[in-house]
Amino acid sequence: MKKLKVLIGSLVLVTGLMLTGCGSTAQKTDAAKSSGADIKAIKDRGTLKVGVKVDVPKFGYKDPKTSKIEGFEIDIAKAVAKKILGDENKVDLQAVTAKTRGPLLDSGQVDMIAATFTVTDERKKSYNFSDAYFTDGVGIMVKKAAGIQDLKGLNGKKIGVAQSATSKQAIQKEADKIGSKVTFLEFATYPEIKAALDAGRVDAFSVDGAILNGYLDDSTVIIDQRFSPQDYGIASKKGNDELAKAINDTVNEMKKSGELDKLIQKWGIK
Ligand code: GLU
Repeated sequence: MKKLKVLIGSLVLVTGLMLTGCGSTAQKTDAAKSSGADIKAIKDRGTLKVGVKVDVPKFGYKDPKTSKIEGFEIDIAKAVAKKILGDENKVDLQAVTAKTRGPLLDSGQVDMIAATFTVTDERKKSYNFSDAYFTDGVGIMVKKAAGIQDLKGLNGKKIGVAQSATSKQAIQKEADKIGSKVTFLEFATYPEIKAALDAGRVDAFSVDGAILNGYLDDSTVIIDQRFSPQDYGIASKKGNDELAKAINDTVNEMKKSGELDKLIQKWGIK
């Protein structure tokens, strides 16, 4: 018995030492990474690779006529490129969705994400986020003809949401509070949800209000309620601390100078 205790004791000690060892290695790696290697790689390449939305009018939208991607978040990405590379045109924009943006950052295919990415405690465990550059709330769009006024009116109905978005959890929480029973259907993209709403495959389309606005037409209405504040931040890979700092400095300088407000006006964002 005593021998067993001694054995367990030494196992605990050895494991403890191993864990401490791992910790210091991880710290060393972080230090190496944050010595500017992340920024150097971008400078050597000569472009900043940014994941942006292409289906969110005013934020990140690819104009089918010109094939140009434009919007508020594209302008912010350009400001970061100007800060790091001295030229706002040195951006390489890549289309992302709520589902693909994290994996694209993980694999290094993009340096940062400026794509209506809500900062959450859960996501902060995986990515660096800048301070918020915009705050929105989750909204709900329905067909005018359905006559639905609020979340209560969605009792027993099906709501279309995007995969890997915050919308489902936010709406479920609010629905539970008022005892409204709702179900969800998840889609990869917003145009698909709008098409499902038009075809009657879902009764409502839920996502951040700013995104919903881009899909509003004569047959639809956005109900007069917003849930769960959504702070948008620019995400970058954990460990790329110099890059995270450059991004955050840019956002805060734009806030201070009034440039961010000007852009919000320029794009007609409410
Ligand atoms: N902003 C929300 C999120 O980050 C909605 C999804 C989206 O950004 O497309 O989950």
